[in-house]
Amino acid sequence: EKKMAKVAFESSSEDASDAPASDGLPEIALIGRSNVGKSSLLNSITFGAGAAAVSAKPGTTVSMNHYLVDKKWRLVDLPGYGYAKADAEAIERWDAFTKDYFVRRENLAGVLLLVDASVPPTENDERYANWLIEHETPFTIVFTKCDRDKPGMPSVDENKAALRRKLDEKWHRLPSMISTSSVTAEGRDEVLKFVSSLIVY
Ligand code: GDP
Repeated sequence: EKKMAKVAFESSSEDASDAPASDGLPEIALIGRSNVGKSSLLNSITFGAGAAAVSAKPGTTVSMNHYLVDKKWRLVDLPGYGYAKADAEAIERWDAFTKDYFVRRENLAGVLLLVDASVPPTENDERYANWLIEHETPFTIVFTKCDRDKPGMPSVDENKAALRRKLDEKWHRLPSMISTSSVTAEGRDEVLKFVSSLIVY
């Protein structure tokens, strides 16, 4: 049974050194720009169990939130990147914050990089994927909103291919990619399977 039975909000921290002490439980981090569909995906993969926890998250402060899942592993919600109004200094602060976490966190089992497939990939999506590859951080790209082809706009398939092509120009090996939709539940089982493959019980 791949379903996550119990998702409990644990803590919110504003600094990597401030995060809950490593107690050996594996962690999986979620990252993506704001509005990428992170809360929707979380609700989808927890079958609603994460709804209360996720909606209880603090609003606009730059913080990471830890959730304990089934008392066996942690889901780490990192702040979204690419706020429209963020200035250069805020972006730098965010970069330092999240990258410090990726590099230092011993129990990090993997990262899910969420990318909205209903619009062309942003520079930030590409930058982050490149950064994770460069730093040998295990991650998978989770495309969100794959049900949403907008008339007169590049299609979901074209948007996915565009990111793949950009990464392919730079790297020999590409990260794995999962297409999801919280509307149709496409990819939900695949995400759950991927998550359980990262977690050694
Ligand atoms: P977050 O800010 O990353 O947590 O994003 P949300 O989960 O709140 O979603 C942002 C917006 O995108 C909302 O209006 C959602 O209804 C919409 N959305 C999220 N996931 C999907 C999806 O899979 N398909 C479609 N069509 N819309 C989605």
